[in-house]
Amino acid sequence: MPDRTRSTPPFALRGPYLTSFGDPFVDGVDATRRYESDGVVVVAEGKIADAGPARQVLGRLPQRTPVERLPRGSMLAPGFVDCHVHYAQLPVIASHGTELLDWLARYTFPSERAFEEPRHARVTARRFFDLTLAAGTTATAVFCTVHAGSVEAFFAEASRRGVRAVAGKVLMDRHAPKDLRDSARRGYDESKALIGRWHGRGRLGYAITPRFAPTSTPGQLEAAGALWREHPDCWVQSHLSENQREVAWVRELFPSARDYVDVYARYGLLGKRAIYGHGIHLAEREFAALAASGTSLAHCPTSNLFLGSGLFDWKRVKKRGRPVRTGLASDVGGGTSLSMLATLAEAYKVARLRGASLSPGELFHLATRGGAEALDLHHRIGGIAPGLEADLVLLDLGATPLLAQRVRHADDLDDALFALIVLGDDRAVRATWVAGRLVHRREPT
Ligand SMILES: [Zn+2]
Repeated sequence: MPDRTRSTPPFALRGPYLTSFGDPFVDGVDATRRYESDGVVVVAEGKIADAGPARQVLGRLPQRTPVERLPRGSMLAPGFVDCHVHYAQLPVIASHGTELLDWLARYTFPSERAFEEPRHARVTARRFFDLTLAAGTTATAVFCTVHAGSVEAFFAEASRRGVRAVAGKVLMDRHAPKDLRDSARRGYDESKALIGRWHGRGRLGYAITPRFAPTSTPGQLEAAGALWREHPDCWVQSHLSENQREVAWVRELFPSARDYVDVYARYGLLGKRAIYGHGIHLAEREFAALAASGTSLAHCPTSNLFLGSGLFDWKRVKKRGRPVRTGLASDVGGGTSLSMLATLAEAYKVARLRGASLSPGELFHLATRGGAEALDLHHRIGGIAPGLEADLVLLDLGATPLLAQRVRHADDLDDALFALIVLGDDRAVRATWVAGRLVHRREPT
């Protein structure tokens, strides 16, 4: 396997850049972000070596460091973070007509079955990274399938590309087609072997991945909790309270649990580095338990709208005194876009339907630093600051004629940023760097 993580010689990028460095939901946008209209970002050995106003950074730049001027109308930002996505469901994105539980049976399971075939897994993993990097997404938390080979294929490709990724084998030992089920023992053994092979290798991390409570027996959830206790620096990812029928089903399957969150709590699956997709139909006690344990939510707006699952409630999620750490996620194939810009636009609309208004600064945070915090990776990615890994995206504020004319009428940074979020998608991603290596460049139309 060629080593693609080796870095390029030092270089600097000069132009406007925007970064978030705290939680705007707690401390406000102004106190948690930095915008430099004429900035310089210096990259060396895969990391950001320096960043700040050009008038300061240029003076201390090591001799002979090449400085690339960014094109007019563009802006540098941290690479986007997608906190919950199923690479194996790429082939069924945009499939018509059902809600969650039918969708799983009709589209998800048949699509995932094909990953028994290693070649299919390899080809899909390649396509997944081609598409996510072109959309400016440089870090992902990924569900593979029940097949250990699907994880091997995914991590091998992630390793070749040098991207930061968290992923795991789906654990599923009931309420799924027989050929897609493992057992508590086998799921544990295969996950443990994958942890040994991939966790902490380069930029990769392993996530213990029960699909969701209904498809795991209590014995399998128990084993998942035990595995996490043995490997506490691994992640845990699953689904939580996405759909009303699902919530009712969980109540039936786990009658002694207080609620859905309590099911995961009982098996030791809450805590920092645990991240759950959705979290729509939660009671106050459940939000409080998530916040107290440091558990994160992955908000998946395009998926929630597409499957008619429900509306994420920002006011309750970010309640003063006990905000729940939250990142943004595509949830493809239930979600309808790999673009975090397109996903942000839907997050804004979902919030509107709940009577909340996310500011441009809050939205930008969600797709960058917010996602990094939700994955407990903010000390490595999600921002532009010395010491962080150089995952960067160059955004094109004139990507389409519609966006270009809107930005020409923008009053200020937030006005332009909001237009980019609402009207932008992968076309607005002009270039993507992973650990300082240019991995995607789009020629302006
Ligand atoms: Zn999902």
